[in-house]
Amino acid sequence: MTTGPAPAPGDADAHWLRRAIDLSHRCPPSTTAFSVGAVVVAADGTVLGEGHSRRDDPHDHAEEVALREVDPDDLRLVGATLYSSLEPCSSRASRPRSCSALILTTPIPRVVLAWREPAVFVDCDGAERLRSVGRTVVERPDLADGVREVNAHLLG
Ligand SMILES: [Zn+2]
Repeated sequence: MTTGPAPAPGDADAHWLRRAIDLSHRCPPSTTAFSVGAVVVAADGTVLGEGHSRRDDPHDHAEEVALREVDPDDLRLVGATLYSSLEPCSSRASRPRSCSALILTTPIPRVVLAWREPAVFVDCDGAERLRSVGRTVVERPDLADGVREVNAHLLG
């Protein structure tokens, strides 16, 4: 099992977000969807699940791949943090549930993202949606360059 620093504001958040950004580089190329990486980390720094866009299926989003690896009954989710290189989506055409909706089916209380989704494909309000029901959302725009870089071809 992969472990690292216990999720916390500052260097630990940066460590795990960099891991998510590293994962985004594994995404199969796409001209119609962002390349994203996501990691779910327990309070003690144990990785509970991780994933990247289009890993198992062309429609896969990183957050849902990472959450697919997580046991929904794992009590550690109550103190876990989900790291995503991009803001979790709030609507999508290909699947019934957006990533923000999927996150809300878990007790994960804290989400850290590097880059707010730009309105290229859809207008995303994932961060607002999560905050509106009491989840903590931390943005680390200082790490967004790495996310823009892997998605540069989509930004024209
Ligand atoms: Zn999504």
